[in-house]
Amino acid sequence: MMKDSIKKYFIHTYGCQMNVHESEKLAGVLCQHGYVKAEEDAEADIIVFNTCCIRESAETRVLGNLGHAKKLKEANPDLIIAICGCMPQKAGTAEMLKKRCPFIDIIFGTHNLSLFGEYLDKVENEGKKVLEIWHEERQIKELDTIKRDEGVSAWVNIMYGCNNFCSYCIVPYVKGRERSRSIDEIVGEINSLVKEGYKEITLLGQNVNSYNFVDEKNNHYDFADVLDIVSDIEGDFRIKFMTSHPKDISEKVVKTIADKQKLAKYIHLPLQSGSDRILKLMNRKYDSAQYLAKVDMIRNYIPDCGITSDIIVGFPTETNEDFEATETVVRKVCFNNLFTFIYSRRSGTVADKMDGQIDIKTKRERIKHLIDLQFGLGLRKAEEQIGKNGCVLCEKLIGGKGYGKSQNDTPVTFDSDEPLETGKFYNVKIKSHRNTKLYGTVINKIGD
Ligand code: SF4
Repeated sequence: MMKDSIKKYFIHTYGCQMNVHESEKLAGVLCQHGYVKAEEDAEADIIVFNTCCIRESAETRVLGNLGHAKKLKEANPDLIIAICGCMPQKAGTAEMLKKRCPFIDIIFGTHNLSLFGEYLDKVENEGKKVLEIWHEERQIKELDTIKRDEGVSAWVNIMYGCNNFCSYCIVPYVKGRERSRSIDEIVGEINSLVKEGYKEITLLGQNVNSYNFVDEKNNHYDFADVLDIVSDIEGDFRIKFMTSHPKDISEKVVKTIADKQKLAKYIHLPLQSGSDRILKLMNRKYDSAQYLAKVDMIRNYIPDCGITSDIIVGFPTETNEDFEATETVVRKVCFNNLFTFIYSRRSGTVADKMDGQIDIKTKRERIKHLIDLQFGLGLRKAEEQIGKNGCVLCEKLIGGKGYGKSQNDTPVTFDSDEPLETGKFYNVKIKSHRNTKLYGTVINKIGD
């Protein structure tokens, strides 16, 4: 096949929203170096693997796709292959990759992402291979070349790392300790995004509630201050954030969400388990009563707040009674949506060394119970919405219908007598639901 002369890149992204956003930064660097996006990796001049190591399956997929990239490189020796992110950052993995996959040109970790352009120069101009992992986080250095995908939504990092050390989680070992970005930088980036026309900004951090920044005049800013300040930025847009740790979400944060019109009435609050014994083993630092008290506090200030959660089933030693305790909390809260996961062992974490690992059959039975339970609760939530009006951001149009999310982050499909436009806010009356999906009609357009 004849290759055209324009250099092309392809990025394989694994894992969470944070990684998706990091890939936008990598894409920005590649565009600065004259590359354009390839439709598939087979036509790329550089393939980047931006990896995750939260679950064993993600690592297995990376290794499988590296095998495919090796074949592409055999056919095209000029192809550059880079791997970065959580996987090479994990102790011993970069050396393993170098040995097992000598065809990789660039290996770097989570802390030195901002140097990707320099590494690329070394390979392109000097024909050198690069392996550089920083074992400690340093001052945040943001890349100002972010190539965001087209659409109405954009992500903005407000902090990096995590100090919590939940016993099942590898993140603190590969993303380092918490560092908060300066409030001026955050405001500057959001200002630019709003001017570019973005309508939904999601503030990102492993635990946004522990944002903590002190400026040169010794002014302290916490997460509620960030929400307060960014919601005063001029323009017609909505702000969301993720993720919150239940132990850290404060009344001040919830009051700010209630008071500020630009803040979505939506909080993702990972429960992980409803059993106090398992929560202790998970090192989550709250119990089920404290979790439920936070939910009550949120609903007290914001009655229709969308609350979603993550739950892990089959954590080591989880008994039927522990699992029933989780189901009890799920019933009590009646979440708007639930993201359920089967516990999977991660080497390097405390939970990996625990006795009492649960067999896969039991884990599968429990997750099925939980999914069924949530489906029934989701139907109840959907029914409650019938006849209500709410503000929906039109994210895309398909066949003349609008698709978007309400203020409390519920997906809505809607129609209108007038032509709809993406990036506009509409007051939509919910008319029906199919399973947990909502359907409505536009009452009026909001704003210009
Ligand atoms: S809060 Fe816990 S689960 Fe979340 S990133 Fe930190 S250690 Fe991992």
